[in-house]
Formats: sequence, structure tokens, C-alpha cells
Amino acid sequence: MTIEGLLDAFTNSVAATDWERAGRLLADGFFDHVPGEGEPTAPERIIPLIADLASAVPDLALRFDGLTGEGPEHQATFSLSGTHLGPLWGAPPTGAAVEWSNPITLRTDAGKLAFRFDDVAFPELVAALRQFGLINPADLMAEPPPYPVSVPEFVLKVVMTGQAGDRDCSHLSDIRVTEPTTRVCAACVAEGTNWPALRMCLSCGHVGCCDTSRNKHAKAHAEEAGHPLMRSIRMDESWAWCYVDDAFFEGRLLAGLAGRHG
Ligand SMILES: [Zn+2]
Ligand SMILES: [Zn+2]
Ligand SMILES: [Zn+2]
Repeated sequence: MTIEGLLDAFTNSVAATDWERAGRLLADGFFDHVPGEGEPTAPERIIPLIADLASAVPDLALRFDGLTGEGPEHQATFSLSGTHLGPLWGAPPTGAAVEWSNPITLRTDAGKLAFRFDDVAFPELVAALRQFGLINPADLMAEPPPYPVSVPEFVLKVVMTGQAGDRDCSHLSDIRVTEPTTRVCAACVAEGTNWPALRMCLSCGHVGCCDTSRNKHAKAHAEEAGHPLMRSIRMDESWAWCYVDDAFFEGRLLAGLAGRHG
């Protein structure tokens, strides 16, 4: 099948919510990352996200405009649009039109599609996530979210690092504590300040408020103590982040360490 044929088949499968067919059109590997043993394949990651979107946006339409390139790589502008009529990841529907577009590079891999978003414009991406109510409005960023939003950690990873695979981090052997013993930012409590989310230091267990809070106590601790790795302890989140390497690790990192640390 040509790249045009593959893209048509893919957008038609999504429009028909035929997830099995859509999944069969995607290569098992990501554009820049071959999933390791026990790691979900690209279709296993991507199709559930599109299915979530389609349940929130029943008229979801995907487009690949301005396709260029003689292969093996092709460039296009990807866009998604529709009407936000159902809940998405804990955020209630707004009833409003939603749209996001970004340059994309495509490649065929044994007759299947692999893709990578290029030069993701962060303000536009944040605006798109705001359309879905997944990020607070700019003037309320330091406040707790109004409802229990739970964005899939794979989405957070791609948004925060721009890649599907793990970044190198030389600090994983520094992990000493994986479970929190407190559920407050003590420094914020002392001054009566609110926070959106909590992070826990994986070296010493210090709990502080996140990087969108007013005080950013978790990051301040990481810098002062020289403890680079933290995890989210918001709701049931357990992803980890290295401030030094800008590396994101999904919850299975800590799940794999469970029992080895207190
Ligand atoms: Zn690191
Ligand atoms: Zn620490
Ligand atoms: Zn704080």
C-alpha cells in the first residue's frame, strides 16, 4: 500500500472506530524507539489513546495534509478536530470544538505506519490540552485541578520529553525510598499556601509541591539536596522524573523496584 493509501485506511478506520484495523496499520515500533521486552508496542500504546479521544469526541476527524517526500520519510501536517461531548481522562466535556495540529514525519515500516511529531509547539499543545480541561487556565495553574484529571502516563512522557523511549539517567541507583509517608507539602502548610500536586524525592522521601505550584518546593529540594529523582504521588500516579536528565519514567520503574526499598 502507498503511504497515501495507508493514511486513508488509518483515518477511515479511526472514523469507523475500527480499532483492530487501525492497530494493524501501525508498525510495532515507534519512529525512534523499538519497545523492549515487556514494553507495550506502538499500536498497544497509541490505539487506546485514540479510542479515548474518540469516545470524548464522537465526530473525531484526523487529517494528514500537504504530504511531501519521496520516501522512505514523508512530511505532512497532522490535525485532529471535533466536538468535545464526552469525558476525557477525568475531565468533563465542554461541548466546544477542539482542534490541534502539528507537523508530522511519517515512514512506512514493512507496509505499516510509523510517525513522529516534529517541533511540537508547546503553547499550542498546552492550549489543546486546555480545550479538553486537562490543564487549568493560565491564571489558575497554581491551583488544584477542579476535578480528578488522570492523564495517561505515556501521554505525560511524550509531552514532557518529546519521545516514546526512556532517556538515559545515571541516577536510578540513587533510589532509596519509593512510598510516601506524608500527603502534604509541609513548607506550604506552614505558610498556608495551596498546591496542585505533590512530588516525593526518591533519595530521601521529602515531599514537596510540584513545578506548577507557587513555591515549587519539590524542585527546590532537588537542587538544594542534590537529589535529582522524584515521583508523583498525586492520586495513584507513580511516574518518576529526573531533574538533571529531564528523563521521565513510567510507574513500572518503581513497580519493578517494589519490595527492594521501603
Ligand atoms: Zn538522572
Ligand atoms: Zn531528597
Ligand atoms: Zn510547597
